[in-house]
Amino acid sequence: MNDDTIFAIASGAGRAAIAVMRLSGPLAYFALASLCGDRVPEPRHAGLRRLRDADDSTLDRSMVLWLPGPGTYTGEDSAELFIHGGRAVADGLAMALVGLGLRPAEPGEFTRRAFLNGCMDLTEAEAVHDLIAAETEAQRRQALRQLDGELGRVYRDWSDRLRFVLAQQEALIDFPDEDLPPEVERELTATLAALRQEIAAHLNDARRGEKLREGLVFAIVGPPNVGKSSLINALAERDVAIVSNIPGTTRDALEARVVLGGVPVTLVDTAGLRETADPIEAEGVRRAFVRSEDADIVLEISDSGRFSELPSDRRIQVANKADLLRSAPDDAISVSALTGEGMDLLRDRLADLARRLTETSGPPPLTRARHRAALLEALERLTGAAETDLPELRGEDLRLALRAIGRITGHVGVEDILDTLFGQFCIGK
Ligand code: GDP
Repeated sequence: MNDDTIFAIASGAGRAAIAVMRLSGPLAYFALASLCGDRVPEPRHAGLRRLRDADDSTLDRSMVLWLPGPGTYTGEDSAELFIHGGRAVADGLAMALVGLGLRPAEPGEFTRRAFLNGCMDLTEAEAVHDLIAAETEAQRRQALRQLDGELGRVYRDWSDRLRFVLAQQEALIDFPDEDLPPEVERELTATLAALRQEIAAHLNDARRGEKLREGLVFAIVGPPNVGKSSLINALAERDVAIVSNIPGTTRDALEARVVLGGVPVTLVDTAGLRETADPIEAEGVRRAFVRSEDADIVLEISDSGRFSELPSDRRIQVANKADLLRSAPDDAISVSALTGEGMDLLRDRLADLARRLTETSGPPPLTRARHRAALLEALERLTGAAETDLPELRGEDLRLALRAIGRITGHVGVEDILDTLFGQFCIGK
């Protein structure tokens, strides 16, 4: 596959001043030379060139870069052309490149090659995807830390130590009667215990990293007509939900994505929770319950100052219609979705909650279900290894734990997951 030379527009779709065409593979130099009439700029120096097709008709005038491998993103010979951003320019260039023997890249193929050529591990490749998808500053910071290899280093450190434990274990199996120093067994047990403890701590993070990557869900619940739709509209600063004084207007769960405290949050406006004979509304009520059970935070709205449940870590009380209401419980946040009174306070409080649910300190957090599954498996194997007295079984458990951790960074048995992983990328990355 890597014998092919691939190309793709790496910048966004649609009309733009400039679009970046990226080439990678063994034909990159030949293709660039053909397009530039043999006037390829010095490596890594930009040059303005007239681009021409096989018939010498002009495709564009653009800045081009020649990037010889292996010190490139993919590790291969590469080139970048900063062409004018019109559709016809890109199409004309693509036709010329196909004529020269190149082919369009698959989604994620540049990054896949970077991984296969050893320029990055899988956690770094995933971070590229996360960085492109990042909508907020906190997400960007997390993706960049991972792209810098911080998370991969944690996993590789575990792999290295585990490999050492495995070697000690093999020595114990191979030389049972020799005089292996007694420290070997003691050290093995100690390292195993430390690894189990570190992996368990990493897993036990309330899914902070994953939540920041995926975004939080805040459900807005309460009886009909208390102002749930008005509140979501006020928080989203646009009309998401229909506001009306007819109870039961919101029949389904409506969603709005907002940024609170640097974290993407989906606000779910649930149908008014009430007994109803209307089957469609009843379904809306049922969905509201489901959504509020999964939600990271539940905002219970009331316009009477009375609430159905006590506030908790997960649940806050919002007393709406402060312009009409005289008193509200001390724990409740008093607001008026109509006049805007108290809304800044509510936003600050929600931002604090969003930060608290996603903030991490110390080593980089776990960011994906894929990593979590592999680490859970590793931990299970290490527990098995610690609990067995049979050296051969212990050796096998250690090997399986090592393989599970290796899968995260892509150092063992990964062929099967590559398609899934890089298939999520955009073309040109
Ligand atoms: P929902 O059924 O809980 O989604 O409630 P809505 O958002 O549809 O609002 C019900 C009614 O209450 C509408 O007529 C709103 O204009 C009104 N309303 C919402 N918030 C306030 C508020 O803070 N003060 C006052 N006076 N009326 C409000």
